Amino acid sequence: MAATTGTLALPHVARAQSAARVVVVGGGFGGASCARALRKVSPKLDVTLIEPNATFTSCPLSNEVIAGLRDIAAQQFTYEKIAAEGVRVIAQAASAIDPQARKVTLADGSAIAYDRLVLSSGIDLDFKAVQGYDEAAAEEMPHAYKAGAQTLLLKRQIEAMDDGGVVAIVVPANPMRCPPAPYERASLIAHYLKANKPRSKVLILDAKDEFSQQRLFERAWSELYGGLIERIPLSQGGRVTEVNPTDRTIITEFGNYNPDVANVIPPHKAGSIAALAGATDHTGWCPIDPATFASKLVPDIHVIGDACLGGGIPKSAAAAQAQGKACATIVAAQLAGKTPESPTLTGVCYNIVSPGYGFSLAGVYQPKGDIFGEVEGGGTSPLDAPRETRAKEAEAATTWYKKLTVDAFG
Ligand code: FAD
Repeated sequence: MAATTGTLALPHVARAQSAARVVVVGGGFGGASCARALRKVSPKLDVTLIEPNATFTSCPLSNEVIAGLRDIAAQQFTYEKIAAEGVRVIAQAASAIDPQARKVTLADGSAIAYDRLVLSSGIDLDFKAVQGYDEAAAEEMPHAYKAGAQTLLLKRQIEAMDDGGVVAIVVPANPMRCPPAPYERASLIAHYLKANKPRSKVLILDAKDEFSQQRLFERAWSELYGGLIERIPLSQGGRVTEVNPTDRTIITEFGNYNPDVANVIPPHKAGSIAALAGATDHTGWCPIDPATFASKLVPDIHVIGDACLGGGIPKSAAAAQAQGKACATIVAAQLAGKTPESPTLTGVCYNIVSPGYGFSLAGVYQPKGDIFGEVEGGGTSPLDAPRETRAKEAEAATTWYKKLTVDAFG
């Protein structure tokens, strides 16, 4: 196999000459979990993980970083453990995928052959969707929807804002990564403002009328933050069509806003390598057969995580991990000439609206036609739960995060 540049030390794991080659592109929650599970399910497989960043910075709980409640270091993970388990980790981006030749080209021009490829490239922001919002504009009006430098930029802007200022959060329509995350962010920014700049305000400009766990969020906002958070939904002119980063103007069909801090989350699409592989359709996402995660558009490629068109299953780290593990079992079975069982996926999504105040949404999902549908077994936290239950859920979120990240990165 070519391309040893940027490869983490290869452990002494015996690889049969004829071992099937599985290449995983993208070392986030879906890809890292899948690569580890492939080695566990079938130790004979030759597994390669391609990921350009030596350190992965995780989005779940990154809203706490913005509010000054958590250090960014707690969000960061490396690939040493995965490499030590026998996965060949290549620290480069995939620049092209040729499904006919079953070959991935890397940023340095070298190529890697595969028998099966698992694509978990997450999202890219659609910089054409909001007029005036491009990569340069994101340096003035951060999206903070890929964790790392953008998270810290938004945090710094809020800290530098004068008391009495307005922090605007621009929310796109679904499908989007972690639909409740903008409202969790609004809550935690409100927590920071209430303590540090109490005359300030959070303004949500929303391209949706309704949102995930809305009643729980709104209950928490009235209990904790009074009128500090204002939300303008789609039907009242919340959809943003244009921005001007030079004077931080946000333009909707109903009027203009000039907040002191503008967190603009544009619509997104599957991470761009998916389109280069021919795996995306007109929606910008990857249609799959949910029973196997096989791409509907290109052979021998399975798509998991945020990049796939999952239907009822949310674009979350919990879902990406469940998909990664299930996909590993399916790919290993298929390569061994067996018919895999159809997957049942479970996941839970926590929202922290203030330290010691959390709630959650659990779901169980199975293939239903071309997508995943929700089946019985899930549910949301009760609306009228006492504060001690909210405190327990906030604690459970920390335990959940630990397990999620240990499962993904070791
Ligand atoms: P990612 O984890 O983004 O991984 C994609 C990887 O692919 C990246 O490492 C990237 O570098 C790599 N990649 C991209 N292109 C290439 C290429 N060409 N070659 C090689 N590698 C490539 N989810 C939850 O379950 N719970 C939460 O509480 C939660 N909170 C969130 C809060 C915020 C603010 C945000 C933004 C998201 C949150 N999420 C949460 C969602 C979660 O982060 C994503 O759904 C999850 O990361 C998706 O996993 P993934 O593997 O599809 O993509």
